[in-house]
Amino acid sequence: MLPGNTYIRECPQCSGKFTQPTMASGNTFGAKFWPDGKMDAPMMPDYPAYAGCPHCKGTFWVDDTKVVNSLGYDEEREIPDLTLDSNQTPIPYKNPTKKIYLQGLNDLNITKENEIYLRSKLMQIYNDVNRDQKVQHSPIDPQIENWNRLLEILDSKETQEKLLKVEIYREMGNFEEAKKAFTGEFDEEYMDTMDMLDKLIEARDSRVMCINPHDD
Ligand SMILES: [Zn+2]
Repeated sequence: MLPGNTYIRECPQCSGKFTQPTMASGNTFGAKFWPDGKMDAPMMPDYPAYAGCPHCKGTFWVDDTKVVNSLGYDEEREIPDLTLDSNQTPIPYKNPTKKIYLQGLNDLNITKENEIYLRSKLMQIYNDVNRDQKVQHSPIDPQIENWNRLLEILDSKETQEKLLKVEIYREMGNFEEAKKAFTGEFDEEYMDTMDMLDKLIEARDSRVMCINPHDD
């Protein structure tokens, strides 16, 4: 992975400074994939689009916050003096948690695209308890509510959204609906995911297991 600039940005709630790492280029070598869209790639960090302020309880879309400085990846960075306890000391943003995503969903003016982003990330967090586990837990109510809302707002034309719909029905154990949602046109670049989903649906398998566990 080739790191890109580190941006110093400002929290819109408290004006505290935080850092945002970026990547100039990366790849999916050695990456692991799961059918719910989660990817674990050592050479391609998944920088969150929505995160939390490290100084206050504020949450935000990182790209919507104000950039106050930008440092090249090879530039010497001053080591922040954390003993100063000032919100002007730039420290990394808080990585999103269930709570942070739910806070983002409280925005009444959220766009559909942003709601889909937050809810699909939330779905992955709810799935973590079952990820690669032999014994799978039943879904909890907030997870079911999140699935149902996603099914309402996902587009039936766009491949990625269509496949997420198929995946939700599969995880619900509703294989008939999964098959129904699995029709029409799909982009070829999603062929591997489609093959795998197809196999899992045929096997009536609703587990959240790594797609490529032996590719290490
Ligand atoms: Zn803040």
